[in-house]
Amino acid sequence: MPDAPSAVQAFVGLGANLGDAQAAVQRSLQALDRLPQTRLAARSSLYRSAPVDAGGPDYVNAVAELRTALPPEALLAELQRLEQAEGRERPYRNAPRTLDLDLLLYGDAQIATPALTVPHPRMAARAFVLLPLAEIAPQRVTPGQLRAVADQAIQRI
Ligand code: AMP
Repeated sequence: MPDAPSAVQAFVGLGANLGDAQAAVQRSLQALDRLPQTRLAARSSLYRSAPVDAGGPDYVNAVAELRTALPPEALLAELQRLEQAEGRERPYRNAPRTLDLDLLLYGDAQIATPALTVPHPRMAARAFVLLPLAEIAPQRVTPGQLRAVADQAIQRI
């Protein structure tokens, strides 16, 4: 099916560090492709990164490019629904979430509401966002941004 004329290019960051994190990220990439009025246009490789400012196991990360006719708030609500769906598999009550989905970019929109800040405010400081994003959308990442996160431990899986 062709994209709706109003479809926007959006980028979503995926991260998981509990349970079978690789499987959770793979499942979520497929789930993004099934969102209403949305298709998965591209996906990065999977990456493994050390937690930033936190303990715990390494993260598995990826970035997805979507084409979507959902408005940004509706897309965020769908991402939160997917996070909760993965969370239901948590092994015990109040266990940390197994999946984090961030709306990184929504076209060229600049959004600052209580619920949503786009571009994602911390993406420029995180190698686990910038490297996978540069893999599928090199024009959205500058060499200076990549240099600034060069000391962060991350490897392509
Ligand atoms: P987190 O703990 O990273 O999952 O943060 C979730 C909270 O961040 C939610 O309350 C969202 O409303 C808020 N938020 C603000 N901007 C964004 C964004 N660009 N992507 C995802 N969540 C966002």
